[in-house]
Amino acid sequence: MKSSKVNDPRIIRIELTPLFVPFWELTRQVMDSSEGGLGMAIPAEEAWLGGDFVICKLVAEDENIGLGEAFVWLPETGVSPSQLIDIIQNALSRYVLGESPFNVEQIRHRMEINVSRSEVAKGLIDMACYDLMGRICKRPACDFMGGKTSDKIPLAALIPLMNIDTMVELAKGFYNDSIRTFRFKLGHSIQDDVKIISRMRETLGSDVRIRVDYNQAYTPNNAVRAIKAIEPFGIDFAEQPVRSTDYLGMAYVQKRVNIPLMSHEGCFSLQDIITLTELGAIGVIGINSERPGGITNALRAIAYAEQRGMGVVIHNQTLGIASAMQIHLAAAKHPSLGHATELFGHMMFEDDLILTPIDYSGGTATIPKGPGFGVDLDEEALKKYATSPTVVIESIKRKA
Ligand SMILES: [Mg+2]
Repeated sequence: MKSSKVNDPRIIRIELTPLFVPFWELTRQVMDSSEGGLGMAIPAEEAWLGGDFVICKLVAEDENIGLGEAFVWLPETGVSPSQLIDIIQNALSRYVLGESPFNVEQIRHRMEINVSRSEVAKGLIDMACYDLMGRICKRPACDFMGGKTSDKIPLAALIPLMNIDTMVELAKGFYNDSIRTFRFKLGHSIQDDVKIISRMRETLGSDVRIRVDYNQAYTPNNAVRAIKAIEPFGIDFAEQPVRSTDYLGMAYVQKRVNIPLMSHEGCFSLQDIITLTELGAIGVIGINSERPGGITNALRAIAYAEQRGMGVVIHNQTLGIASAMQIHLAAAKHPSLGHATELFGHMMFEDDLILTPIDYSGGTATIPKGPGFGVDLDEEALKKYATSPTVVIESIKRKA
């Protein structure tokens, strides 16, 4: 935080650092113990050993810095860190440099009309604007999202698809840590899905909330059979049962089952959300830190979901900056969500790139204290995990 005499400071520099953060050894063991080594992931050929990220610093002329963080993974997001950096450096930056971070609508509008798609890159910039606004005004970022409605954010646990006894032990551990919402990865076979869910209901009781994620495992016909088979166990929603791009398949399934569906790998923009909803293909909306394109669009998506009577899940495996951002978003929109938030990065990656850890105790996340997202970047860790030098994009200071 800087004290400054600059009125309405403009963004004068963008710094983008690509990094790779390995999984904790334990996370890797969990992956290895599952069939194909991908108990938590979609079935790509490449081994999943950690996360690729881009950290963004928006530097204002009063020297305040707003932080953003984007997770990228080719099988899911379809862009690499270098593509993300390239589109910002060679296209989006010109609509950001020289602007006030408070003009997020203007920045978004200009990015939107001049560069198609690229939601993850736009989201990275948008996110950093909110941190910067908070730092300039010395207020928490949630104050720019409508204000705080809750101090603590209920969390859900993620249980990867693996040996059923290990899944049960993991779930019990989370239950003992006061977690009351669970997401189980399914999709090995319909028979195994039923075994897992019936065993979990038996172990965890009728009060816990259960959601499932198929990671695109089934054809539409098999997805209908699979979801109908677990309907008796009281499931909040089912994530991505069919191929990510198969919107018609999602609609086919949703019309035949009583559990609401959620699209994850298939949903990147506001238009995706609206199209899936109008097709009758989803009943719950998923918000990632990088989708549907930053906080400005996330607020729109949540407002839309609320008007349509749909639930919202804020979820991702992020480092500390994007986790903090999602906690602020959940804190601002708590009454509109209806579902516990999923934040798994701190359990999956060996470093979260922030100086003071976020408090995840007691089955909840506490809003980090301080201006903006309330977290500070660990510069040493940034150097350690960077995969190539920081790209710096600058503009001249505005005229007085
Ligand atoms: Mg998923």
